[in-house]
Amino acid sequence: MKGTYNVPAPGKLETVRKLMNTWVVPTATRVPEDRLPALLRDQEAWRREFPDVPLDGDDSAELLAKLRDDLRCMLGGGSGWPESLQQWLERFPPMVDVVVSGEVTKVRHAWAPGSGAVGWILAVIVDAVADETWFRLKRCPDCQWIFYDRTRSRTKVWCDMLAGDAGGRSCGTIAKVRRYRERQTS
Ligand SMILES: [Zn+2]
Repeated sequence: MKGTYNVPAPGKLETVRKLMNTWVVPTATRVPEDRLPALLRDQEAWRREFPDVPLDGDDSAELLAKLRDDLRCMLGGGSGWPESLQQWLERFPPMVDVVVSGEVTKVRHAWAPGSGAVGWILAVIVDAVADETWFRLKRCPDCQWIFYDRTRSRTKVWCDMLAGDAGGRSCGTIAKVRRYRERQTS
């Protein structure tokens, strides 16, 4: 697969990206699909898809879906940033760890026991905000897919899914053509 469509985010943030993409708009149907409820019903499927993410808390499907939808909205400084994240953190505060590795001491966050998948996700996000990898997660305005922008300039807008990819389409094409025409006529 070419493009940045499925470039993995670093470390545990990739798991969060995958979770956000349990809400998808498949190219074939263009009808939004929520794959989270089925994953939560099937513990084996969950462990296969998200082996790191604990399900020991009060992880109702509604709660996790709400967190996922809030996160999708706040990407790119969108609606709810940062108030919505702040509210989630007040409800599910992560634990703070001081991790010493050789010469380097870092503050890292961990999920509090009993806070389940929601707590786990929030702890990962707090660390990602601190090291700024969070701001490289973007939502494609065309297909709504969450992708990780690895470019130095951090200016990618579309997921770069290509029409030739399996089930792919060419996101951004219409906007790019429009901009090209505007440049030609101005
Ligand atoms: Zn796209």
